Amino acid sequence: MAKFKLTYATMFNPPEELHTGFDKAVAELKANMGKEYGMFINGKEVLADEKFDDHSPVNTDWVLARMQKGNSSHAKMAMEAARKAFPAWSRTPWQERVKLLRRAAALMEDRIFELGAAMAMEVGKNRMESLGDVQETADLIYYSCYQMEKNNGYITEMGRDPLVGYEATNISVLRPYGVWLVVSPFNFPHALTGGPSGAALVAGNTLVIKPATDTAWIVRLLVDCFRDAGIPEGVVNFVTGPGSTLGQALVDSPEVDGVTFTGSFDVGMKMYQDYAKREYARPMILELGGKNPVIVSRNANLELATLGIIRSAFGLQGQKCSAASRVLVEEPVYDEMVARLKEMADKLVLGDPTDRNTYNGPVINKSSYQDFKDFTEEISQAGATFLTGGKVRVDGDYGKGFFCESTFVTNLPFEHRLWKHEMFLPITTIGKVKNLEEGMAIANDVNYGLTAGFYGSPEETNWFFDKIEAGVTYANRPQGASTGAWPGFQPFGGWKGSGSSGKNAGGHYYLPLYMHEQIHTSVKVAPAKAAETPKKKAVAAKKVASKKVAAKKVVAKKAVKKAVKKTAKKKK
Ligand code: NAP
Ligand code: MG
Repeated sequence: MAKFKLTYATMFNPPEELHTGFDKAVAELKANMGKEYGMFINGKEVLADEKFDDHSPVNTDWVLARMQKGNSSHAKMAMEAARKAFPAWSRTPWQERVKLLRRAAALMEDRIFELGAAMAMEVGKNRMESLGDVQETADLIYYSCYQMEKNNGYITEMGRDPLVGYEATNISVLRPYGVWLVVSPFNFPHALTGGPSGAALVAGNTLVIKPATDTAWIVRLLVDCFRDAGIPEGVVNFVTGPGSTLGQALVDSPEVDGVTFTGSFDVGMKMYQDYAKREYARPMILELGGKNPVIVSRNANLELATLGIIRSAFGLQGQKCSAASRVLVEEPVYDEMVARLKEMADKLVLGDPTDRNTYNGPVINKSSYQDFKDFTEEISQAGATFLTGGKVRVDGDYGKGFFCESTFVTNLPFEHRLWKHEMFLPITTIGKVKNLEEGMAIANDVNYGLTAGFYGSPEETNWFFDKIEAGVTYANRPQGASTGAWPGFQPFGGWKGSGSSGKNAGGHYYLPLYMHEQIHTSVKVAPAKAAETPKKKAVAAKKVASKKVAAKKVVAKKAVKKAVKKTAKKKK
């Protein structure tokens, strides 16, 4: 269990304890690889007839886990479980939901080393990036809890109607939609599963989670945190299997009331189109790809620019939606910028990402590895220059995994298609521009608009923020030119083809995306005359009857009194 909290600051200056904790967890996991994991439906382990082995991209001989190859019947089962659990979960007081989710986030923090080690082995992320993904997940969940609290469960009193002689209260209530589907990508398997899941759950929706097949194991370990926090059965359901069959069955399910999909543009857009064929529109939050530019001005601090660009181009082997995949440098500083980038990129350490000194691990799978070979071949054919890298590594232990060199490309004509295509690999193209306007025009001339970076003077920075078409933008940042958003600091989301909601995850406006609004207008009425029901009639009749009896008794008593008085008089 971790005794310290990983924060934005310790990410860049980790204490020694972090390394010992991580190394211990890696050793334990390596000694216990290959266990079978079920799907998790309605609070129960569910096994499928077909299984698949989850191999590490670091060394394909490592079978990390044996997972279930779910199919459309599992999709149905998970959806039904989520539907059944919805009435109770949505009516659970939001304060109680917040408590349970905070408990789940705290469990993720407690397990950060185990989860981080598994992440490094399954995704190929270096240790700081792996631990960062886990902590970011907990922080995203905490943020949703905080938002729910800060907004008093999104129950807001509106104005009172000004009509004379009549008094009404108007309350706006945000209520959950129902069953929410979260489909996540391989590259941030925790943050991009746990973040949207946390928001959907705090809001009162029930969940079906479908992770990327490449990262089924690590997401299962995340689901265990929700389970162990005591979230009731059926509220969180988890299925594994191919996106094209199981994933498609989930999207097509009539039970789905809302979706958060994070992944590639092509898959996301297909999902969006399929979803539009429903009998009525339902929310779908899409977080898609990027082709993120960095513009370097002649006035830039090139030291900061070098550090930021290297981190964003090659962190996680360029497989971040926010990766700096295009660098546009003003002519006067182009040669110096390029020389600095080469010097630093050549020093990056490629290897087993669980090793302390490794900066770059492998790419995710065989298909990405093949893509790297194809793209570098295409770049060669175009007559461009490999400033660094350009090859896969097959020598020694590298041959067991999917290792690609960090590759900077220069002299690729701006007309070439790879200036606009998201490669999602450690390949970044660098271009020379005559002035900042030309750089900005190229930067914006893509269908994507996720993140962007800039290095230059303060006046130029204001110009950059004004002109750039992207959802997350950074100026003069050494921690990452276009990457490294952290919950509470940089809410994350994209414009144009990079996202559908226009509101960033982990930000002010995110949680309301998971709820629909209901207005409660209630007019104050004077207490009405009690209506007569047969029962009431009977009671009333009884009352009348007993009053009559009582009256008769009074009359009788009076008569007796009179008589007594009369006799008394006579006696006198
Ligand atoms: P992907 O190939 O699009 O897959 C994403 C998810 O969709 C996986 O779980 C996949 O399952 C599933 N899927 C595939 N076909 C499906 C279908 N027909 N119906 C339902 N689900 C289906 O993306 P990836 O390779 O994992 O991730 C990389 C992409 O994600 C990049 O484009 C990156 O830019 C983007 N991304 C965006 C953000 C953001 O916040 N904007 C963040 C991270 C990543 P299988 O794995 O089983 O195929
Ligand atoms: Mg994929």
